[in-house]
Amino acid sequence: MEFESVIGLEVHAQLKTRTKIFCSCSTTFGAAPNTHTCPVCLGMPGVLPVLNRKVVDYTLRMALATGCTIAPSSRFARKNYFYPDLPKGYQISQYELPVAEHGAIEIEADGHRRRIGILRIHMEEDAGKLTHDPTRPVSMVDFNRTGVPLIEIVSDPDLRSPKEAGTYLRKLRTIVRYLDICDGNMEEGSFRCDANVSIRPKGSGKLGTRTEIKNLNSFKHVEKALEYEINRQIDVCYDGDQVIQETRLWNPESAKTVGMRGKEEAHDYRYFPDPDLLPLVIDEDWIASVRARLPELPEARKNRLVATCGLPAYDATVLTAEKPLADFFEACLERFKNAKLLSNWIMGPLLGVLNSRGLDICRSPITAEQLVELLELVESDRISAKIAKTVFDEMVETGQTAQRIVADKGLAQISDSGALEAAVSRVLANSPQEVEAYRGGKTKLIGFFVGQVMRETRGQANPKLVNEILKKKLEAI
Ligand SMILES: [Zn+2]
Repeated sequence: MEFESVIGLEVHAQLKTRTKIFCSCSTTFGAAPNTHTCPVCLGMPGVLPVLNRKVVDYTLRMALATGCTIAPSSRFARKNYFYPDLPKGYQISQYELPVAEHGAIEIEADGHRRRIGILRIHMEEDAGKLTHDPTRPVSMVDFNRTGVPLIEIVSDPDLRSPKEAGTYLRKLRTIVRYLDICDGNMEEGSFRCDANVSIRPKGSGKLGTRTEIKNLNSFKHVEKALEYEINRQIDVCYDGDQVIQETRLWNPESAKTVGMRGKEEAHDYRYFPDPDLLPLVIDEDWIASVRARLPELPEARKNRLVATCGLPAYDATVLTAEKPLADFFEACLERFKNAKLLSNWIMGPLLGVLNSRGLDICRSPITAEQLVELLELVESDRISAKIAKTVFDEMVETGQTAQRIVADKGLAQISDSGALEAAVSRVLANSPQEVEAYRGGKTKLIGFFVGQVMRETRGQANPKLVNEILKKKLEAI
């Protein structure tokens, strides 16, 4: 029997607000434990939460960017459970009336475009963090994270493979970063995901029993954990057993998921509307003002680049994956119209340098102006493409401009036909056998001769001229 997998993701994105969702404590990551706390986020008796308007603003951005319907009135609910990192004994979340529902994003996977439904987006507060001391039977709790705003983005069970799940997740991350509402930092846990997965006979419309894999904090882990879990469920079925509904944890070291606890049902949490918070009413004006401030989203930007400057779709996808990178590209494009040459240099040498140094484009050692200056030298044949790479490396090392490096090092391309003719003559005189072979019909040897002339001129010869002169001399007997 052939199986197919059915995957839905619940993504938690930490919003980049300055303060927490229901109090004015700072959300800055990395402070000493329990220094960003107050009676509200510590859940002291008698305190009242006050909703941070910015949290709603940011949530609306995401909701609109993913085509969700915004509820004119939504409600916060208490999700009750006991855990030492949850001082109130409940988490304020949204339950039966979330702020946004029924959106979708499109992804491209295995050459197909697929629409992945978004069931709902809701707001909630984060819990604290437990640290377990391996040397003593002690756990410590840090409440700095308690009350930090999150949105949970719940997809429909529309994903069919670990790869699709990874693609969807990357796309979501790109969108929250474009919207500037979440830094998308998976290592620090500000963008993390739980995956629900089940299998069913291929073609069946029924959903199988699902398991939930908790707290996956890298794209690689998501894909690997899902792959493992799908195979595990298939094995269970082949053994004649049944998959049990449970929560599982991914262990990256053993590359396995392990059962953690039986999966809770919603009723286990005894949800009820939070009596301390009024229903959240969002009117049309509020929605309109958020909509008016939405940036151009990656999909639209990619399509525009393909349509207006003829970039291949692949290049446009790479260049628009991060907003600052797309901004850099477009800043160059304003001054330099050869989009494809520009894209080659950004995707090749520039991203290469950034990756090897662990920098993002905002901290690029080469500015848009400097890159354009270099490429103008290439386009006007002042330097060859090969020399340009040398100049580029020098620019990265020294911070000097291309013009300056070319002038100081005497790297300008040799386009003086007298000098080139002399170099060509020398090369031909030194390679009589190849000359004979060429004249006998092995015209592919032209590449060899060009290479020799380039060596003679330390890469500075104008290749177009070299080709012309070579052909002229080789074909004239
Ligand atoms: Zn607080």
